[in-house]
Amino acid sequence: MIYILGGAFDPPHAGHSAIVRSVLHYKNPEKIIIIPSGQRDDKSYTVSDEQRLAMLDIFVWEIADIRIIIDDFFLTKWEGNMITRDVDLYARGKYGEDICHIFGTDTIESMSEWDSEQYAAKTVYKLFVPRSVGHDHEVWNDPEKQKKIPNDDWIASYLVRTEKLWILNFEFLTEANIPDISSTEIRRIIPEYATIHARFDEDPRFIIPGLSRKISRYILENKLYLTKSDKKPKILVHVCCGPDVTMPIIQLRDDYDIICFWYDPNIQPKSEYDKRYEAFVRICEIENIPYIKGAYDVGNFFTRIRWVEHTPERGEKCTYCYDMRMMVSAKLAKRLKIPLYTSSLNTSPKKDLDKLFKMGHKYGEKYGVEFLDIPFRKHGGFEKSVEYTREHDIYRQNYCGCIYSIREGGESEMKKRIVG
Ligand code: SF4
Repeated sequence: MIYILGGAFDPPHAGHSAIVRSVLHYKNPEKIIIIPSGQRDDKSYTVSDEQRLAMLDIFVWEIADIRIIIDDFFLTKWEGNMITRDVDLYARGKYGEDICHIFGTDTIESMSEWDSEQYAAKTVYKLFVPRSVGHDHEVWNDPEKQKKIPNDDWIASYLVRTEKLWILNFEFLTEANIPDISSTEIRRIIPEYATIHARFDEDPRFIIPGLSRKISRYILENKLYLTKSDKKPKILVHVCCGPDVTMPIIQLRDDYDIICFWYDPNIQPKSEYDKRYEAFVRICEIENIPYIKGAYDVGNFFTRIRWVEHTPERGEKCTYCYDMRMMVSAKLAKRLKIPLYTSSLNTSPKKDLDKLFKMGHKYGEKYGVEFLDIPFRKHGGFEKSVEYTREHDIYRQNYCGCIYSIREGGESEMKKRIVG
């Protein structure tokens, strides 16, 4: 006998795997043909056909039995909507009359309504495997309820119901023990796992519940099942300037909900401050990122660097300057109940990363928010930010910010400022 397992496989999960393994074990089939469904009136798919097929390839490879075959006819050749009758007629034409379709018992209730002639309910030969009706979260999360599926009462009640529903040509695979997993529930939880790539990479055993390790990896690497409405953790990104914040935005936006925070009273003169702020706002508009503008409290800056004004860049005055900006950013993250913060200062090759990271963590601990110590400048980050500003014609400054750094940014710039 050849068994047909149709379905969306969006994504293929441990329930599908248990069904295939049970049929292999108890029915010793000649083949199991897996037929992913194409266009259906009652279904829309979350990922592309190619991605569903790629996951099915992994699924079949993992079961490692040459009797399992994927038939992609309804994805690649069929036009228009499909129903079970189409699958049956196609399978009979291709694989012969000795075929049996596998369905979950949860389909019994509605089967007689699948087509007007009741072809699926009466003509198709069916093997029912035990599945609970509804896949509600309560059953999913309650091991006690899971244990009760299947039991004799369920089977008996199905038999009574099938008689009432005029379902013909079927048998039950009562020996099978299929975990009650639903694709809908798996899709719902995937975004929670998509934001913790690092943990996944560090621990190769780590998987999304209900999915194999390889399918989990495929989903996370290809960022499947994420939508704009997915809850990403919020992060406050302190902005030192527009060009430098391009890298945090690009590197973090898939995994985090970014809010930029412009706080730079270290920039002088005011005309330069305004020019840099405008460049930053343009980037936020291009990338559609919300932002907050901090105060231009230059007095705060000059008070902090008093007596060390003339120390070189990366020296003592810069330590106070980073410290001021990290502290204010961590404080704001706490006030806004944003659990994470970081700074675009990590993009600049002129900044002392060790110093920045230590401060970031110090204020993170003090204010109860987590500091993300990502060196955005690495892996060509700084060069990419230069490319970005060139491409979008965005102003890029040639000195760090304070009046003392103008000299380090170029003699001519200093003269221009003094004259201006
Ligand atoms: S050189 Fe840059 S980092 Fe250092 S104090 Fe001036 S503005 Fe701040």
